[in-house]
Amino acid sequence: MRLEGKVALISGGARGMGAAEAKLFASEGAKVVLGDMLDEEGQQVEAEIAEEGGEAVYVHLDVTSESDWQNAVSAAVERFGKLDVLVNNAGIFNRAFIHEQTEEDWDRVMDINGKGVFLGTKAAIPAMREAGGGSIVNISSVAGLIGSMASTSYNASKGAVRLLTKSTAIQYAKEGIRCNSVHPGPIQTPMLDLVYPNEEARAQRQNAIPMGRLGNMDDVAKGVLFLASDEASYMTGSELVIDGGYTAM
Ligand code: NAD
Repeated sequence: MRLEGKVALISGGARGMGAAEAKLFASEGAKVVLGDMLDEEGQQVEAEIAEEGGEAVYVHLDVTSESDWQNAVSAAVERFGKLDVLVNNAGIFNRAFIHEQTEEDWDRVMDINGKGVFLGTKAAIPAMREAGGGSIVNISSVAGLIGSMASTSYNASKGAVRLLTKSTAIQYAKEGIRCNSVHPGPIQTPMLDLVYPNEEARAQRQNAIPMGRLGNMDDVAKGVLFLASDEASYMTGSELVIDGGYTAM
């Protein structure tokens, strides 16, 4: 029960890594608010957590909307009494070289992946102050550390998340609010089908990973759990890379 007594809000919690984190957190004793735009899938995750004896509530959350974020934080405080943990997980991928990147797609990716993290953090800080501290975990990517082909807006947005994390960490360190970033390599989720649209591309990437395999959702969820928990109490502004050794080369 590594999150016993904690209340956590996870964006993009309806599927993929966000859903895996919501389930793992609940199984470790956290009360979980999961927000997403996929209402049916989100309600399904809420039901699955309840079936396992955990406590969770799904809320509709578009991370680009400041009022949605306020509602999500209010849901945590009203339903569970406080907010200790925020996981800024929601994100989208977009494939385009710079010369073909449309302004609309650039703005959409920066809005969801970048502004979404800012708005979530802004909404969570007052509640975490009330709680006497907290832990914010921002899901960046290896694409926030190194360049990747045809990932123009995705690279830029995930790089922004990396440094917004450090900025958050130093601004609120004295108040006991920690903030760290997580940098997954390719993880088997619905998003990966967009990143590697065919088997050949997927196999090529897999072969380039020193461990010789793609990551699974639990590989990342366990790292996020550690950063969310008090076990990471002296960590803030740091980068947790979970990539099978890809960026070690
Ligand atoms: P996913 O597509 O399975 O899940 C992303 C979730 O975010 C979905 O439930 C989606 O509905 C939600 N979302 C999208 N836009 C939203 C919005 N405006 N408001 C609220 N929710 C929204 O993808 P995933 O692989 O689980 O990705 C989770 C995070 O991990 C993302 O930030 C992604 O960039 C990052 N990441 C993924 C990989 C990978 O290989 N899968 C690698 C590195 C980083």
